Amino acid sequence: MIRENEACWLRAVGLWALLMAAETLHGLWRVKVLSVWLGDQFARDVGVFIGSLIILLIAFACIDWIPARDVRTLLLVGSTWVVLTIGYELALGRFAFGRPWSEIAADFDVFRGRLLPFGLLILLFSPLLAARLRGRIDRLAGAGTRDRHLLHRNLVPPTKNERTHCARRVTLTTICGTDLHILRGEYAVKPSLVIGHEPVGVIHELGVGVMGYALGERVLVGAITPCGQCNYCLSGDWSQCGGPVGGWKFGNTINGA
Ligand SMILES: [Zn+2]
Ligand SMILES: [Zn+2]
Repeated sequence: MIRENEACWLRAVGLWALLMAAETLHGLWRVKVLSVWLGDQFARDVGVFIGSLIILLIAFACIDWIPARDVRTLLLVGSTWVVLTIGYELALGRFAFGRPWSEIAADFDVFRGRLLPFGLLILLFSPLLAARLRGRIDRLAGAGTRDRHLLHRNLVPPTKNERTHCARRVTLTTICGTDLHILRGEYAVKPSLVIGHEPVGVIHELGVGVMGYALGERVLVGAITPCGQCNYCLSGDWSQCGGPVGGWKFGNTINGA
């Protein structure tokens, strides 16, 4: 069985091989045709531009084949391509064409007017650029705090108080704009929390002391926990409670839905 991660890297290397095949053909054309027209040095520099264009076109056409949807992995794919390409260039120049090392190294020297580093820069960013242009960047899949909230994990069941306990079976929940701020790291909630604070559901366990509700009743779960003591709560504006005891707890300081 091949996992998604392995498939991603196998395909990244496969796509790199395709890029190199295209670049090798382009290189042959450059040597046989373009150099004759423009002279070797100028053809080499023009070749970097055409080569970069080929990279971008192939990356744009084939990026869907690589199951990478976040900036970090796409940049990692680009870096891998750069490392593989430098190795390939060195091996090809030295062993296939027998060029001396000093001449090969000169290709990488921007200060001597060589443009190969520019081409490598394009290569580095090409997977990210292609994915972005095609709108394939998954804003929710990514590094750091983002996916911690999305991963399935074993939750410790909350302690039950026989009198005040009430359990709901969640039938539907939303992703709030605030959740997106949390995922982007723009609003800090308690670490490793299950976020989401706007579920609706059906009551399926009810403590004996809970009044005014019935088993099987459809309810919504308020994001705000009213304290019952502050001015807002005493005025009946429970959803405005922000006191030290009440306020926004669900999906903020305790697990949400
Ligand atoms: Zn909300
Ligand atoms: Zn209150």
